[in-house]
Amino acid sequence: MTARFSFAIHATDGRARTGTITMKRGEIRTPAFMPVGTAATVKAMKPGDVRASGADIILGNTYHLMLRPGAERVDRLGGLHGFMGWDRPILTDSGGYQVMSLAELTKRSEDGVAFKSHLDGTRHLLSPERSIEIQRLLGSNIVMAFDELVPTTSTREVQASAMERSMRWAKRSRDAFDAGGQHAEDNAIFGIQQGALDEGFRKSSADALIDIGFDGYAIGGLAVGEGQEAMFGCLDFAPGQLPASKPRYLMGVGKPTDIVGAVERGVDMFDCVLPTRSGRTGQAFTRSGPINIRNARFAEDQGPLDPACGCPVCATWSRAYLHHLVRAGEILGAMLMTEHNIWFYQQMMADLRAAIGEGRLTAFADDFRARYAAKE
Ligand SMILES: [Zn+2]
Repeated sequence: MTARFSFAIHATDGRARTGTITMKRGEIRTPAFMPVGTAATVKAMKPGDVRASGADIILGNTYHLMLRPGAERVDRLGGLHGFMGWDRPILTDSGGYQVMSLAELTKRSEDGVAFKSHLDGTRHLLSPERSIEIQRLLGSNIVMAFDELVPTTSTREVQASAMERSMRWAKRSRDAFDAGGQHAEDNAIFGIQQGALDEGFRKSSADALIDIGFDGYAIGGLAVGEGQEAMFGCLDFAPGQLPASKPRYLMGVGKPTDIVGAVERGVDMFDCVLPTRSGRTGQAFTRSGPINIRNARFAEDQGPLDPACGCPVCATWSRAYLHHLVRAGEILGAMLMTEHNIWFYQQMMADLRAAIGEGRLTAFADDFRARYAAKE
């Protein structure tokens, strides 16, 4: 019988690791990139095409799904997997980040965050207990603890008190998780380290989470505008403060070079809207850097988006055709650009896993960065 959740590391290279998370719904090869399926859809992609790109797991957003179509409705319809037609693992965020960035009239207290929906103005409360309940109703396989976020530019006092509250909420999240609920046999729970860019705050947060005990540990509160250098500075100590035997998930990251640098620093899991959102605005990721397909220089370019890409889009359609579709506002343009970008990210993760397994990560990463910065 497959365990509820296990993580095996197959090889390490410096601080980087490659391994496999095993869950009832399938294996997740790490380092892993999770495409973002905010509203029960990876925008502009069918689930079968997401899987064909090499994705083992996708992410759903609690805040959006609780408001529309509603967690209780998704549960009545059999859970997120059946509803959207994706049968592999799903990780859901806690809603904390989005309620604080998207909702209106938010009021924070020790209990949780009261807010008005940005969709219809209805009033809701998101607390650690309600967040876990919603994630269970959705049928999430990796549930995230509910936490409080403050900008990295906040004062030290504000950062410290938000981190401390987040640790109290992590305990409440764990207790609510342990109390059981829908699909309880099929979930794991991750805690989220906070503490902005401060090494001492990060250590206190890691120690508090380890004391509670989680299946995996996320690094939260980064990629919020601090820049790559500051983020890498934090990642030089933060992953090492978390248990080596558990997966480490860097939330909301990132650009291709962010991911490569974070993998070198010991991170195992990522999610980001960049490949999907960029696809809808005409930006394609290539091994020689991002390109904007709307640019006039692609109007008669008969080559593929990325000559080194193995995706179905690059096998079939030219830059000239994609340029035309995107400029004309055709739906297929957004679909094909997104599909290529998701493939690019998944191929990058497969390349990283292979490089770690073969002990040549530094050479791979240096070559990746040099090509990526070269532009065309
Ligand atoms: Zn491609």
